[in-house]
Amino acid sequence: MISTVLFDLEGTLVDFQWKLDEAEEALRQALVLFGFEQGLFTGANYAEIRLRALARAASPQVREDIDRRLTPIYDQYDQDALSRWSLRGGAFELLQKLAARGVRLALVSNIGRRAGWAVLDKFALRGWFQLVIAREDVTQMKPSGEGIRKALTHFGAKPEESLMVGDSLTDLRAAHDAGVPIALISGGETIYRDLGGELPDYRISSLSEVLDVLSPEKR
Ligand SMILES: [Mg+2]
Repeated sequence: MISTVLFDLEGTLVDFQWKLDEAEEALRQALVLFGFEQGLFTGANYAEIRLRALARAASPQVREDIDRRLTPIYDQYDQDALSRWSLRGGAFELLQKLAARGVRLALVSNIGRRAGWAVLDKFALRGWFQLVIAREDVTQMKPSGEGIRKALTHFGAKPEESLMVGDSLTDLRAAHDAGVPIALISGGETIYRDLGGELPDYRISSLSEVLDVLSPEKR
């Protein structure tokens, strides 16, 4: 029985508005100016670009310098997306129904706290979540499973009694890294980036289908 549901934010509860290509170019250029070779970031998405740079950092000081350069870029693109995000249909109703069943709810997002809290407030979603894990709350963003593991620890929840709901390959890899099954919703980031052949545990096309995943017999 699923007792804990972890939600991604962008592309899952709100529509996907991050300017992926432009933001990734800005992140790469900041790191090239810092002395990294462009080729290091081939095939890396916005989260992996940072991780690859950090993995090459020779000292804590260099890691701090990297984050000092990259954080304003992440924040800038979060704020840009915040101006356009709209709520996905059925989001409020789903959270309401899950909460009424006593399911514990957390948000595990790569979005920063400022934009994340702002969008939760804008759509009156904040009160449904017992825990919000944003970019600043982890050392490694998704596709690392760190944020998901942190949420499970917070609730004392077992991976197999939890479900991640997300919209991207990043979510899929993070969920599987943490041993948690994932329901992948269409119409989010996969419009722009496909799954490259990796398979989610469940595929859904609307948020109400999360209820089918939790308990197929009762809606
Ligand atoms: Mg997403």
